[in-house]
Amino acid sequence: MRLLKKRICIIGSGVAGLHLAYALRNDFDITVIERQSADQIRRGRIMSTQVHFGPTRNRETRFNVPKWGEQPLIESIHITIGNQKLFVGKLKEPALSVDQRLYYWHSINDLVDKGVTFRLEKVDKEGVEVLINEFDLVIDCTGKNGPLLPFSIEEDLSPFKTPQRKCIVGYFTGIKANTPLGVGVTVLPEVGEMFEIPAVTEQGPATILFIMTIPKSDLDVFKGIKRAEEFTLKMRNTVQQFFPEIYNRIDGKNFALCDKNSFLQTALTPVVRKPYLMFKNKLVVGCGDSVFLNDPITGQGCNLSSYCAEQLYETLIEYKDSKWDVETGESYWSRTKQYVKEVTEWTNAMTKPLPEHVVQLLLRGAQEQVKANEIAEWFANPTKAYEAFTSTTTIH
Ligand SMILES: Cc1cc2nc3c(=O)[nH]c(=O)nc-3n(C[C@H](O)[C@H](O)[C@H](O)COP(=O)(O)OP(=O)(O)OC[C@H]3O[C@@H](n4cnc5c(N)ncnc54)[C@H](O)[C@@H]3O)c2cc1C
Repeated sequence: MRLLKKRICIIGSGVAGLHLAYALRNDFDITVIERQSADQIRRGRIMSTQVHFGPTRNRETRFNVPKWGEQPLIESIHITIGNQKLFVGKLKEPALSVDQRLYYWHSINDLVDKGVTFRLEKVDKEGVEVLINEFDLVIDCTGKNGPLLPFSIEEDLSPFKTPQRKCIVGYFTGIKANTPLGVGVTVLPEVGEMFEIPAVTEQGPATILFIMTIPKSDLDVFKGIKRAEEFTLKMRNTVQQFFPEIYNRIDGKNFALCDKNSFLQTALTPVVRKPYLMFKNKLVVGCGDSVFLNDPITGQGCNLSSYCAEQLYETLIEYKDSKWDVETGESYWSRTKQYVKEVTEWTNAMTKPLPEHVVQLLLRGAQEQVKANEIAEWFANPTKAYEAFTSTTTIH
């Protein structure tokens, strides 16, 4: 007699929930609960800048997440400090940023076609208890507004009580792309950063301008801006004042937001939690931002969510025929802990002034292409960035 598949409930269909649903759907009976319909997500506000680096794209291939066809791939990272362009480092594998509104909408519809059950519901703290009774396992993937359960905070990895940056993002047309096509990173010491990111949107290719401002610095000029026209004008003036190289590539007549919802302002306080707990003798786990929330400054959130989804998948497969309990939760945490630490500590360090030995490394990148490529690779392989930041030796 064939045993019934274990039943898993995933709350939230962001990167974490979606990658888990794709990974787990053949071995388990999956139900995804999401508070917004696919169409609401598609028509809603942008949520991220979502650069998926090589390892995340390889996981997408492994788990059959839909592909995006021939798209402008991100091949490099351009580094500028102040107004000095230092170098263009080449990524080993190309990256891709697909507007999450499009990515989530498309993936939800694809999973429904593949037989995964979706329920449209906003789960609250009482509702989650009902789900814990109903399913063999509940996975909290509610993102930065979560978690729904009190996963304990890892104090060592959660040093901040307030946001370290304000995030200001717009998806624009009318900007000539940098070449070779890549993510532009401009660091303005003591003020903030600008990330220029080529992206795929429903309307076609676009350029994301992502300002991260240190609160109350000279770049902190978007306060109170709510309307699209005001936002566009403020962005144009701010780019002219602080990022002249980008301003020179703006085509005055065609510079516009891709749509009325393609801008956002947000700020978040990073916090890392132990991603499992026992609730009335049953294991509950968390994955993605609900338990591992970092500042977006290093562009790791989607990549870390996807990484942890894969590790959770491996854990659940390993324990497929056992009772899921503390040991299962601890196994998942021990698989992810070191990587979460590396991403988190590198990211937290990036919100501070760059240490002198890192500045020296960047200057070496300007001299040697091999170094420049190694530094570009930090974003795809944050372990390398962590090693560079925590080592005090400059010459490797
Ligand atoms: C401005 C900005 C820029 C960023 N840029 C990058 C980048 O370049 N690269 C990168 O890797 N990361 C980036 N990130 C981070 C990245 O967007 C997140 O880490 C990633 O989306 C997290 O995925 P998730 O699935 O955990 O959460 P989310 O993507 O937030 O998804 C959570 C889902 O859960 C649903 N949900 C929430 N609560 C409930 C509930 N109670 N009931 C039912 N459903 C619920 C939500 O509707 C949502 O669909 C950025 C973040 C920000 C804010």
